[in-house]
Amino acid sequence: LQFAPASTCKTTCPYCGVGCGVLVSPEKTGGIKVKADPDHPANLGRLCSKGTALAETIWLDDRLLHPQVNGARASWDDALELVAQRFKGTIAEHGPDSVAFYVSGQLLTEDYYVANKLMKGFIGSANIDTNSRLCMASSVAGHKRAFGTDTVPGQYTDLEQADLVVLTGSNLAWCHPVLYQRIVAAKKANPKMKVVNIDPRRTATSDIADLHLAIAPGGDAALFNRLLVEIHEQGAVDSSFVGQHVDGFDDAVNAASSCDSTVTGLSEADIRAFCNMWIGTEKVVTVYSQGVNQSSAGSDKVNAILNCHLATGRIGQPGMGPFSVTGQPNAMGGREVGGLANMLACHLDLENAEHRSAVKTFWAAPDMPEAAGLKAVDMFNAVAEGRIKAIWIMCTNPVVSMPDADAVKAALEGCDFVVVSDLTADTDTAKLAHVVLPATGWGEKDGTVTNSERCISRQRGFLPAPGEARHDWDIMSDVGRRMGWHDAFDYQSPAEIFREYAVLSGIAGQLGRDFDISGLSDLGDDAYDSLEPLHWPVTAIRAGGRFFGDGRFFTPSGKARMLPIHFRTPQSHPSAQYPFRLNTGRVRDHWHTMTRSAKSSRLSQHLAEPYLEIHPSDATRLGIAPADIVRVTSPQGASLLRALVTDRVHAGQVFAPMHWTAQYASAGRVDTLVAAHTDPVSGQPESKASVVNVEKF
Ligand code: SF4
Repeated sequence: LQFAPASTCKTTCPYCGVGCGVLVSPEKTGGIKVKADPDHPANLGRLCSKGTALAETIWLDDRLLHPQVNGARASWDDALELVAQRFKGTIAEHGPDSVAFYVSGQLLTEDYYVANKLMKGFIGSANIDTNSRLCMASSVAGHKRAFGTDTVPGQYTDLEQADLVVLTGSNLAWCHPVLYQRIVAAKKANPKMKVVNIDPRRTATSDIADLHLAIAPGGDAALFNRLLVEIHEQGAVDSSFVGQHVDGFDDAVNAASSCDSTVTGLSEADIRAFCNMWIGTEKVVTVYSQGVNQSSAGSDKVNAILNCHLATGRIGQPGMGPFSVTGQPNAMGGREVGGLANMLACHLDLENAEHRSAVKTFWAAPDMPEAAGLKAVDMFNAVAEGRIKAIWIMCTNPVVSMPDADAVKAALEGCDFVVVSDLTADTDTAKLAHVVLPATGWGEKDGTVTNSERCISRQRGFLPAPGEARHDWDIMSDVGRRMGWHDAFDYQSPAEIFREYAVLSGIAGQLGRDFDISGLSDLGDDAYDSLEPLHWPVTAIRAGGRFFGDGRFFTPSGKARMLPIHFRTPQSHPSAQYPFRLNTGRVRDHWHTMTRSAKSSRLSQHLAEPYLEIHPSDATRLGIAPADIVRVTSPQGASLLRALVTDRVHAGQVFAPMHWTAQYASAGRVDTLVAAHTDPVSGQPESKASVVNVEKF
């Protein structure tokens, strides 16, 4: 490897939303060495197994080094001219909504900004959505309904300052390991600190829990509704805060009062223990993740949690607040630049005429859509129905990761024109593309990411781009120019894009939005290059201010909204044909569809093949012995998985990780089993409550 910087490079880990800082230096043997950055506020010198193994994932063997058109090597000029002309021709014939971009929370902020600008400002469609839709769209919807903006009020230090940390729908120990390590250390230092883990499964995270509540799948809103009722009945409401800063209190409490908490499947004693612990502890942080978000009632679950923090005024203060942790390294940056089909850049609203006009003017855009575009599941349905005729997929593998994955595969097989930009042509999705474009990856790219606590960090390149690979922002800008928008996409560097984005955020700030980093809009190239991690909003945080600490929210009235939440069951219902409830998730040592993490044999040793957790009583009844191969079927598809017989799951429930692709386990794709039911508000798929049958193979 040719190591570009002369000395150690400070960058960030490309995996999860914790956003750890890493130090990369060259090895004498020609490889690289990766260590934790002791000064990065996210990890303070810690790393997890995936971060520690990063040096083993720098590879060139199956890298895509040249553009390909219909499987044959092509020049950049020919490939991009074809992309531009096919998109232009499709738009001319069928209108701007006949094309789409499907992007990724792994893109850097600068890539994401250009993608969003090209689609929403110049192509004139809002059909750009992201795999972050599968990750945290319900949190975005919940935040916007309660606060008026997608504002995460917490920081990681809150987890250490809390006396009670409630981890709900989150296997933090495996999915956000460094945050878990920080809580373990804080608990050791503060014997008063308690942890509650709410999860249908007993996971590695449950090991530090003082109370594990094995809630019935989908029961979260009912549990937090009951907590709200107890807060009310036990006199724990912060009446002064609610009176001055909250709307909707009575309606929310009335709705919660009519909710039956027995649907949680928890004993009354456990529910009372949880409520008493929560109410009796002022400094409480409720951390939630995909177990809450990936649900057809995900937005309601989020608002049920936010209701409890608003009713008690426990928000925006040290050691207290609701805290959504994002799955991907730049899910938050994607939210900030408007990478979701229903958002504009800088937390401005697509459906707000004043916001739309401000962005249109700033971009000198010829056209702007007035309504939200298609969210992920609807986007691939539109591809299947022929309404979308050209799609560009960047840095993600939806043929493996989308629910009802076989239907997504069939949709792309029938699509007129599919473009994929990625590190390799060997993904299940890239194999279906007409044009495959070689993009740079971690270690080669340069830009910024934002982690779960709103901390913007630089991701720096330390290796040259391999072969003819180019940066995503550069590829998209080239296509934008070829489509006729020379000035708008005449970018020379990520620093230039970042400055433009920071200026736009100042306009958003003037329009009363929370996202304002305009203090960074005059960063020179050198200052951008040496930018230290910083939390936004830059000025308020620097002045010691905290979101919502002063009680001002980003709604027209300045008050937060509590919402009436009515319990809804998951949309799939177990039956005689499909008697098991299927939960899906991640393992500790792999990432998404394993494009990078599978390069490390050390990481693959932890759990080497796709598996299904099944309770011993179910396994015995079905004649399944440990390590047998089982056939799992659902109304959508079928998979073959290794049986892992364990009482970590309840009888009648099974769990399978989502990582394995056709490349690594031909019949182990788990999202083929998942129903494409979505939350009606957020559009997030219900990836944790499908129904399946299990039999010995
Ligand atoms: Fe990377 Fe997340 Fe592990 Fe940190 S916790 S090293 S960001 S995978």
